[in-house]
Amino acid sequence: MKRAQTRSRTTRSRSPFRALVATLAMLASSLFVVTLGATPAHADGCYTWGRSLSSGSTGADVQQLQIRVAGWHGSSATFAIDGSFGPATTTAVTNFQRAYGLTPDGIAGPATFAKIYALQDDDCSTAHFDWSEVDGGCGAGGYSGGTVSATTVKENLKRAMWRAEALRQRLGNKPLRVTSGFRSVSCDKAVGGSGSGYHTYGMALDLVGFSGSPSFCQIASAARYTSFGTILGPGYPGHNDHAHVDIANRKFWSASSCGI
Ligand code: ZN
Repeated sequence: MKRAQTRSRTTRSRSPFRALVATLAMLASSLFVVTLGATPAHADGCYTWGRSLSSGSTGADVQQLQIRVAGWHGSSATFAIDGSFGPATTTAVTNFQRAYGLTPDGIAGPATFAKIYALQDDDCSTAHFDWSEVDGGCGAGGYSGGTVSATTVKENLKRAMWRAEALRQRLGNKPLRVTSGFRSVSCDKAVGGSGSGYHTYGMALDLVGFSGSPSFCQIASAARYTSFGTILGPGYPGHNDHAHVDIANRKFWSASSCGI
């Protein structure tokens, strides 16, 4: 310590630039020590939490957490993303922790956030789903021309991707592919839709496995535990070659060939 101080004093007299660098380094290290006491700082490109969250917490950071754990609420079609950390959020956080090998205490602290950071990309897509596979269908790309604004479409797609991420994990971390996500009104009509369905809100994803694994029925079955409002699969008209899931606030599950 003494030697380091002596050396930096020597360099300061020799080079103002070096002295500045040394000062900045010292400043940086003291900042590092200060932040260690609080929740560890994490520079995430999408969203960073600044405090631990648990039952009774409220705020925008709770809402951001809820978006990411919504798929772990259990066998229920609806999960409120309302910024209020209640019993349902505790259940979702606990199941999320259990699914990823963390201590299942229902409290979102550094370990839980670290896992979420690992699962989200800087562009706010999830680790295993990309914007390029959920954006405008019919070759259009983008998020405009739907039933709601492009901003709302993108937010809905983000929420759907997080539930798909949970679905993928629940299926044993098996890759899933999105064959259709957001569709503009005209695109939806062009592919035989009504032009006003949940795909035009960015709320729906059509999913398939790779080389038939997981099967459409396995996807539809597991989707019952990942907070999807609508689940349509084999046996439902027009759904013998994919599983449709969406985040509508309802429970409408139909895949008669799968016993759903
Ligand atoms: Zn669909």
